[in-house]
Amino acid sequence: VSALVLDGAAIAAELRGEVAAIVAQLKSKHGKAPCLAAVLVGDDPASHVYVAAKVRDTEETGMRSLEVRLPADTSEADLIARVKALSADEEVDGILVQLPLPAHIDQNKVLAVLSPDKDVDGLTEISAGRLALGKPGLRPCTPEGSVILAKRAQKDLSGANCLVLGRSILVGKPAAALFLAENCTVTIAHSRTRDLPARCREADILVAAIGRPEMVRGDWVKPGAIVIDVGINRVPSLKTQGKTRLVGDVAYAEALETAGAITPVPGGVGPMTRAGLLRNTLRAACARRGWDMPAI
Ligand code: NDP
Repeated sequence: VSALVLDGAAIAAELRGEVAAIVAQLKSKHGKAPCLAAVLVGDDPASHVYVAAKVRDTEETGMRSLEVRLPADTSEADLIARVKALSADEEVDGILVQLPLPAHIDQNKVLAVLSPDKDVDGLTEISAGRLALGKPGLRPCTPEGSVILAKRAQKDLSGANCLVLGRSILVGKPAAALFLAENCTVTIAHSRTRDLPARCREADILVAAIGRPEMVRGDWVKPGAIVIDVGINRVPSLKTQGKTRLVGDVAYAEALETAGAITPVPGGVGPMTRAGLLRNTLRAACARRGWDMPAI
């Protein structure tokens, strides 16, 4: 028996379609579409590709986008001033600051001036506090995408044992908080956890976010478990020398035999993360402008 494959690309496309439909309604009702500002500092090629994709996604849903590209030698003070101005700008609904920032800029100081009501990546301290306290707020997109995918496999996650492998601020910690909010019994594992395979075998839901290619083996997976593979790792191709391929943190082919449901890499959590940014922009716009936001 092979696991149900949770097709993140298809589910993300559904979500983008829903966002686009709501944007069209908002435009006709209020004469205005939400606006996402993307701030990019420096010349990192990967960051440029990511931001270009986010801008394209935003415009495809009918939302407005504002790109702020700054040179690599931008001072910390200048970047802080730009983010402050965007936070105060009535026309801007969401702000993303593409990470990593150049080494001379303290990311925390920049995030400190980003309005939590426009924090579409859910990275500010206030967003993290709202999540920890169970208050409404903008949630980080990768963990939220992980929960949506798990719920496609099992509508009600209540009472399930959920093991989150990884405790980063970006993924592991917010994922644990979000699965807790779904009434799971959550365990967080990390590099100091003893007997990781045994911990994993107890999990009805296994969320792997460690950045270690295929570390989670098939025999670590409890039969029937929901496996959410957040990892994105580039490794040498098996077929063509000099080429690379993407793998997750889970040995997919092995886990497919044991799991009840599993996300592929690529095409699982990644596309959900991208689509989540659009939904968060919509949520931020509706909350700030006092518009009704349909549940999506
Ligand atoms: P970090 O490197 O920030 O965190 C990794 C976590 O894994 C740490 O908590 C670390 O433990 C733990 N860990 C590392 N090695 C081991 C090990 N051998 N055994 C047990 N635990 C271990 O990574 P991120 O959380 O930022 O990202 C995790 C993965 O998710 C990466 O592959 C990244 O590319 C991917 N990612 C995917 C996204 C998507 O859209 N799909 C978005 C963001 C990230 P400790 O704290 O003890 O050091």
